[in-house]
Amino acid sequence: MQLSNKFCRGDKIVIASHNEGKIKEFRTLLADYNLQIITSNDVGIEDVKETGKSFQENSLIKVKSIPDKYIAISDDSGLSVSSLGGKPGIFSSRFQKNCGGWFEAMERIYSEVINKKKKDFSAKFTCCLSIKFSKNLIYSYLGEVKGKIVWPPKGKNGFGYDPFFIPDGYEETFAEMAHSDKIFIDHRSIALKKLIKLHLSDS
Ligand code: IMP
Repeated sequence: MQLSNKFCRGDKIVIASHNEGKIKEFRTLLADYNLQIITSNDVGIEDVKETGKSFQENSLIKVKSIPDKYIAISDDSGLSVSSLGGKPGIFSSRFQKNCGGWFEAMERIYSEVINKKKKDFSAKFTCCLSIKFSKNLIYSYLGEVKGKIVWPPKGKNGFGYDPFFIPDGYEETFAEMAHSDKIFIDHRSIALKKLIKLHLSDS
């Protein structure tokens, strides 16, 4: 059992996810730390039900699904559109499934915004990362990127809603950017920087 709230270079860490896009991002973001990255699949844990009411609650459910003998990191993230009261938010993944695909989900969101009196395309990506060292040693960190949704979706890189979102200060969607650039400015990397700063032991 881990008694400390630090991890070291070379440690084994479980990414509590089945989402290949996210796992790939974590592997790249953590590449400098020589960690042994494994995933929920590798420790025989099936996808958990996201019954939480916030990104943090869902990320805690995911991280707690990993046996306590491992250090585990989980992510719950999503796209929130201002004029839709923050939708799809924590339902971003399920919304896509219900719509029958990414393009269909983006199209549905866009048409809902267009049908509003005030056409406000502002949106944000949010990520809550949780890290668990042991049953009672769990920490959560939030990262956010503000921007706007665009139609039609543009770009082939990345995953999920990436072709649909331009972050503030940029003129291309997340999916038009080189993926290696996108992952260092996105909501996940903002949360991960906070986590690394507080929990990576450099000694
Ligand atoms: P969950 O955290 O596994 O519930 O899934 C979050 C969902 O939000 C993903 O399946 C994507 O739909 C979306 N999402 C989260 N982060 C990103 C991102 O960086 N780019 C594009 N879509 C994302």
